[in-house]
Amino acid sequence: MFRRIVLGLVLSVPGLALAQPAPRAPSDYRETAAVLEHYPDVPGVRLDSPAFRASDPTLTNQEAVLDFLTALAGDSHKVRLGSIGRSIQGRDIPVLYLTAEGLDDPVAIGKLGRPVVWLIGQQHGNEPAGGEAMLALASALAKGELAPLLDRVSVVIVPRANVDGAANDRRVLASGADPNRNHLLLSEPEIAALHRAMRSLPPDVVFDHHEFSVAWRWLEKFGGLQASDVMILEATNPIIPTALTDIEHELYRPAIEKAIKAHGLAPHDYVTTGVDPADKRVSLGGTGADIARNTFGLRGAVSYLIETRGVGIGLQSYQRRVATHYLLAKAVLETTAADPAGLLKRLAEARKAATADRSDLIVSYKEGERHIELPLIDPQIGAAKPTKVRLVDSRDIRPVAVRARPLGYLVVRDGDAVAERLALNEVGGCRAPKAVSLPVEAYAVTRLAARTNRESINPEQTLRAEVKATTIDVPAGALYVPMAQPAAGIVAAALEPDSSASYLGAGVVALGAGESEAPIYRVMSGTAAPCRLP
Ligand SMILES: [Zn+2]
Repeated sequence: MFRRIVLGLVLSVPGLALAQPAPRAPSDYRETAAVLEHYPDVPGVRLDSPAFRASDPTLTNQEAVLDFLTALAGDSHKVRLGSIGRSIQGRDIPVLYLTAEGLDDPVAIGKLGRPVVWLIGQQHGNEPAGGEAMLALASALAKGELAPLLDRVSVVIVPRANVDGAANDRRVLASGADPNRNHLLLSEPEIAALHRAMRSLPPDVVFDHHEFSVAWRWLEKFGGLQASDVMILEATNPIIPTALTDIEHELYRPAIEKAIKAHGLAPHDYVTTGVDPADKRVSLGGTGADIARNTFGLRGAVSYLIETRGVGIGLQSYQRRVATHYLLAKAVLETTAADPAGLLKRLAEARKAATADRSDLIVSYKEGERHIELPLIDPQIGAAKPTKVRLVDSRDIRPVAVRARPLGYLVVRDGDAVAERLALNEVGGCRAPKAVSLPVEAYAVTRLAARTNRESINPEQTLRAEVKATTIDVPAGALYVPMAQPAAGIVAAALEPDSSASYLGAGVVALGAGESEAPIYRVMSGTAAPCRLP
């Protein structure tokens, strides 16, 4: 019934890879007229946003975003404009709460009992179409065609999660970190701010809006441009219960595809390809627990990555790109609004299934590979150039090594830092009320040389661990994090030392230079739990 949690990954780690400034993506690749002919404006879509107020679309700057949102909140009682915080360079990160009642208190919005949909734009600063579409969508919800949906759905929009990146046309944050690989570690102020806002109004559905490169390695490796208008992928971490993935596959994906195909737009699964020009394989987006798409899935929300055809081509085909995000988000909201009670019931069942899961954790695995035909387009004449490629499939996980799932984890050092981060991802813990001697499993860990590779979907692991049974003296106040909770996958991903998103590997939990036993222990028997969740 369940697949298992992926801990160990073939490729490698977030926290340590963050400090380097990333190279800018190649920009302003000029598509030929013959190619552009295939990507005309989408007719019949009203996009009320700053970019489309002039005859030729323009990039919207931070000031224009704030002016637009302020005016919108002034015009419509359904919109409340807030801020989740400030970026490293001091820019405000706006958030919009959209409800029929015009509530701005997240707790009061939660009490409405409607599904809560979070829409995130522009985590990557050089992917503007998703951010622009969020503005048009907010307008349509506030005073346009989508306003009636607010009787059945509550919507939260963060149009630009990476305001500094947007201002500087860079993928990454001002720190150089990739925001989309920071959703477990939460070391970056922008991403921690996003999760603080989500903590007070947890999502039932999250769509994360990006853009993908059109030319780049596709041209280099395969001699073609990416042809699809939009790439789509649900959370693909195998601990996620099938009950949740079924909602995505049965309800959302068909509705999204139908909506955009009706406008002549072509969807595809999200794929990427590695840096080595000789490696002609293509990978489905990976299983890393720290990728937004997967983190939100591990929390028990319907979670998707959406990418339009846009990185590196400036504002070419911009109306089409923004319209694609708009139409897709519209379909998401309509699908959610069609049967809110039914959706919430299925989500509750999926979260219950995650809580009750006792299956093994996957320590290492191989991904299945198969051939697919990738829709590319000839860069000169614009003719279709379907290309047979080998796909590494993150939906097809084949475990190599597994480890029994514990009842919970004891963290005897740096418990505050761990508890604080986990709480932002809807994970609860408790404190041992008194010192006690407990049977546990300890980890013997070995540190591996860290390799950094910005483009890795799953960053390189830095630790290897082996477990052995022992008895330890647990100090009073030690943190205990049980696995019997809906976000169990977050717990294992953060606390198993050899996970790709490991808090020990990233230094949230310190490991001394000569130390080989981790200050994190596995509680394997029910009677040994030192405390229970309230
Ligand atoms: Zn992106």
